[in-house]
Amino acid sequence: MSQPRSGSVKQVSSTANPLIKAVRALHQRKARAETGLFLAEGHKLIVDALEAGWIPTMIVALDPPTEAVSALAAKVRALGADVVFATAAVMEKVARRENPQTVIGVFEQQLADPKAMGPGTIVALEEPRDPGNVGTIIRTADALGAAGVILIGSSADPFGVEAVRATMGSIFHMKLARMEADAFRAFAASRKGPLIGTHLAGSVDIRTVTPGASRILLMGTEQSGLTERMAAACDTLVRIPMAGKADSFNLAIATAIGLYELRRGELTAG
Ligand code: SAM
Repeated sequence: MSQPRSGSVKQVSSTANPLIKAVRALHQRKARAETGLFLAEGHKLIVDALEAGWIPTMIVALDPPTEAVSALAAKVRALGADVVFATAAVMEKVARRENPQTVIGVFEQQLADPKAMGPGTIVALEEPRDPGNVGTIIRTADALGAAGVILIGSSADPFGVEAVRATMGSIFHMKLARMEADAFRAFAASRKGPLIGTHLAGSVDIRTVTPGASRILLMGTEQSGLTERMAAACDTLVRIPMAGKADSFNLAIATAIGLYELRRGELTAG
């Protein structure tokens, strides 16, 4: 098999450099949609990515690099990624904050086919708005061994910097898909297991749901919960019992409790 071409190495000290401008633009959803790229900040996240088989197209690293970043730069370069060594001022510009990470990776977005998600439990989110919730749910789905996460309709971008940060590396491990509502309902109907919606008015206590394969756990949007149409498509509507005065759980917390309850009997200690 032929070796990949080694990536280039550049040194940049000007914040006006076009390459730096293009990387910085990836903080905006529009630029991410146009290029299909996204940013992952920090040495740990890039190492996680490599371990999961994701190769960055480029990394931008503080000049002079630490020993660990230098080794990482050599590794990704050998895999074909370009390496840009940048001054502290340029790093701040790219990260859009003071005291940025010492290395930032640029990756190609990858989405999965929901049909290829396997027989485990899928988490589906109807129009989640908060990128922190989306990232936390991807991390939770990974931690609890979900088969994948589906974002339905116009949702927060899972490849935004805030969402990627909240995934703590799970963006590189979890199968992720996006679907419109109609396509999702058709997919859910074609899947063997039930579509289990979570709803404040659900008639079934989630703790009574029995184990089973190919289930989909469906969560509603932060403001108004599941739409009527989506709730009507569910085989069961479950509620998570609450005490106290809060009217509901935060979306990411409800997903964690819901998925944990559904997977309780399948999780092994340790
Ligand atoms: N005011 C919204 C409503 O009427 O549904 C609250 C939405 S809640 C913040 C976001 C989502 O978390 C809900 O759509 C549901 O999927 C889930 N959720 C939160 N608390 C829940 C509970 N006690 N039982 C079932 N689902 C819950």
